[in-house]
Amino acid sequence: MTHVPFTILTGWLGAGKTTALNRMLAANHGRRIAVLVNELGRISIDTQLILGRGGDVLELAGGCVCCKVDVKNDLWDGIADIVARSSPDSVVLETTGIAEPAAILDGLVRVPDAVRDRILPAGVVCVIDAEASAAAVVSRDEARAQAASADRVLLAKLDVASPAAVRAAHAVLDEVAPEAERAAFPAGDAGSRAMTTWVIEPRPLRAWHERRRAHSDHDHGHGRTDSGHGHHHPGQLIAVTFTDDAPLVGERVLACVEALGDRLVRAKGFVHLAGDDRRGFVERAGIRTELRDGGEWGPGPRRTELVLIGDDLDEAAIHRALWACRASG
Ligand SMILES: [Zn+2]
Repeated sequence: MTHVPFTILTGWLGAGKTTALNRMLAANHGRRIAVLVNELGRISIDTQLILGRGGDVLELAGGCVCCKVDVKNDLWDGIADIVARSSPDSVVLETTGIAEPAAILDGLVRVPDAVRDRILPAGVVCVIDAEASAAAVVSRDEARAQAASADRVLLAKLDVASPAAVRAAHAVLDEVAPEAERAAFPAGDAGSRAMTTWVIEPRPLRAWHERRRAHSDHDHGHGRTDSGHGHHHPGQLIAVTFTDDAPLVGERVLACVEALGDRLVRAKGFVHLAGDDRRGFVERAGIRTELRDGGEWGPGPRRTELVLIGDDLDEAAIHRALWACRASG
């Protein structure tokens, strides 16, 4: 029985994981890539952003796969299902932006033999936002753990990052992930094909015990539990979701998102725009916040679906502010 390479694609909130996946799925490389997407919020924005491309996509909902035990079980079941149903050449797991890959790798030893016999761990690829990740890796334990556990680092957003930001990103990686190979791939199909090969090809993994040691050091005092409370630093990251069928004034939605300032780490989602037949997409990623065209609406109802992740976000206040953006359509 052949072993299907299994890559963990990680990276801080908004680093560019979904963008990288979409490049891989759209590229003309002739490989069948199955994707498992784990989302933090109750709404599956990433899955919608990936669906419609090539490849088989399975969503892992209900919490972060690194620290919620039932989601972890779903992961192994999901891999077994997706390998059985689409015989992929490779399986890629896109983690949540706060997941710690070492905790997922630790779980491999408890995987049923029937699953472990089908997959070959191909490594941890960490997406690093050249504009914003240096600050995140310095200030956020989870971002640091992701970089530290990486076999390979994919640098994203180099085309928009300042030289100072790129230097800072490399300097942080020199310290946190000196052994991980760093790479970037220019836009275009050739670059995307090369990226795909680099991400999915199994290679000898970094020393397992080193990564485990980094992980357990990091974990001290971290309060990780398997009861579903992972990442529960007091006063830390909160995921707020907002759904609304009413049409909203786009620039006011953007203003609400911008008003959250630095407390907001990540925002993404579709917007039912008043007076517009196309859907909007609002996003905060790294240092950028924008509202852009989100393509045609699908067959379902037109509905705003947003996920906002940040420090001490006030869900009720965010809902009130967004409801104030409603218009008649
Ligand atoms: Zn987690």
